[in-house]
Amino acid sequence: MTTQATEPQFRLEQKRKILGDFPGPKSVELAARRAKVVAGGVASSVPVYVADADGGIVQDVDGNSFIDLGSGIAVTSVGASDPAVVGAVKEQVEHFTHTCFMVSPYEGYIAVAEQLNELTPGDHDKRTVLFNSGAEAVENAVKVARVATGRTAVVAFDHAYHGRTNLTMGLTAKANPYKSSPAGSFGPFAPEIYRVPMSYPFREEAEIKGEDAARRAITMIEKQIGAENVAAILIEPIQGEGGFIVPAEGFLPALAAWAKDKGVVFIADEVQAGFCRTGEWFASDHEGIVPDIITMAKGIAGGMPLSAITGRAELMDAVHAGGLGGTYGGNPVACAGALAAIETMKDQDLNARARSIESQVRARLEKLAAEVDIIGEVRGRGAMLALEFVQPGTAATTKAPNAEATKAISAACLKEGVIILTCGTYGNVVRLLPPLVIGDDLLADALDVLEGAIRAAAA
Ligand SMILES: *Cc1c(COP(=O)(O)O)cnc(C)c1O
Repeated sequence: MTTQATEPQFRLEQKRKILGDFPGPKSVELAARRAKVVAGGVASSVPVYVADADGGIVQDVDGNSFIDLGSGIAVTSVGASDPAVVGAVKEQVEHFTHTCFMVSPYEGYIAVAEQLNELTPGDHDKRTVLFNSGAEAVENAVKVARVATGRTAVVAFDHAYHGRTNLTMGLTAKANPYKSSPAGSFGPFAPEIYRVPMSYPFREEAEIKGEDAARRAITMIEKQIGAENVAAILIEPIQGEGGFIVPAEGFLPALAAWAKDKGVVFIADEVQAGFCRTGEWFASDHEGIVPDIITMAKGIAGGMPLSAITGRAELMDAVHAGGLGGTYGGNPVACAGALAAIETMKDQDLNARARSIESQVRARLEKLAAEVDIIGEVRGRGAMLALEFVQPGTAATTKAPNAEATKAISAACLKEGVIILTCGTYGNVVRLLPPLVIGDDLLADALDVLEGAIRAAAA
C-alpha cells in the first residue's frame, strides 16, 4: 500500500512580481536605519527587507515578490511559514517558551531525539544532544570525539565549511571572509586541526577514483599526524559553502572504513545537506555511509533555531554528566518546530520532491551547459544543485574560475526577482537551494530567469 503525499498549502500567491525599481522606499528607509545601528561586518545578499515569506516566495516591505532559490541558506525546506510549523510553535509558545532542559526538562526535547535517532543512518543504539546553531553542533561533536577517544587531533578537508566560532573557523578552509581579510584576522585559531585533500572531481589534475582520493588523504593523515593521535575525521558528505562539491564515488566509504579500522570517530557534518535536501534524509545515505556522529541544523526545524548531534551511544555516553549542554539548547519552541517540520517532510514526501526538483533543474541546465561555454559543471544531488562557472572555453582545459560571471548572473537574477546564492572557494559557483515545497511552475519561471542571465553573461 502506498500513501499519497499531501500537497503544500500556501497563503501567499506563488508568483514572481516586481512592481518597479527596487529597493523601494520602505527598504531604503530600513537600510538607512540599519546603517546607523547594525555592525558593518554583517552583510546581506539582497537590498530589500522582508515582510512575509511562504512556499517559494519572499515578499518585501514594498510589495515585491521574489522567487526564493536560497531558503535562507537551506533552512526553510518546508517553506518559511509551513502551517504545521506555525501551528506547533504557536501552541508551544502559549504554554512555555523556555525552562532550560538542564534545569527542568520537557517532552519535546526527548521527542526530537527519538526522531533523530530513528532518521539518521544506521540502526545501532544512538544518543542525541540538541543545541542552537550548526557551529555549536560541530564543536560538540569534536568534544565528544575527544573524550571518547582520549585523542586530540581533528582532520578537516580542503574547501570545508564548519562555522564561524573559534574552533569551527579553524576547521573551515576559506580565509576570506570567514577567518581573515586584508582588514585583519579573527585568529589565533584552535590547535590540533589538520587539513587534508578533498575529492573534488571537477578540479582534479587527472581523473582519480574515489578510493584513490581517499588513500591520498589517508596517507597524509598517517604520515603527518599519526592515526593513533586522531580523534575524528570531520567531513561534509556534500560540501556546502566550499562549492557544493560531491566527492567521487567511493571516497566517503573508504574514509569511513579507515576511520573504523583505526578507532577514529567519523563525523558527517550534514548541517546543510541533511533533512531531505539531497533527496534522502541525509547525504550520507546516498553511499550507505553510517557516520559515528552526525551534525544537523539548517533544515531541521522549519526556520526555528535548532541544531543536533546524534551518535553511537557508547561514544556519546562517554562524556560525564554536565559536560554537554547550553542555556538554550533544545529550546521547547524550536523542538515543537522541528517535530512539525519533520512531520511535513514525511507527509509531503519531500525526499521525492527534492528528486523531482533535481530532474527538472538538471534537464534545463545540462542542456544549457552544452550551449554556453562558461558552465564548467552542473553538479549536486536533489535540491542541492550548483553550477560552476569558468572563463569562456576553459571547461575542458584550465578551468579558470569565473567569479565575475557568477556575480553578474546572481545580480541579474535578483533584478528580475529571483534570489540566488553563490558559493565556492573561488567564488564561482551558483547554488540552487529552493524550498522543497516550491511549485513546478514557480521553479520553471525561476529557471527561465536564470537561463536568461547565464546566456547574457556568456554572450
Ligand atoms: C552552515 C553550516 C555550518 C554552521 O552552521 P551555523 O548555524 O551557521 O553555525 C556548519 N557546517 C555546515 C556544513 C554548514 O553548512
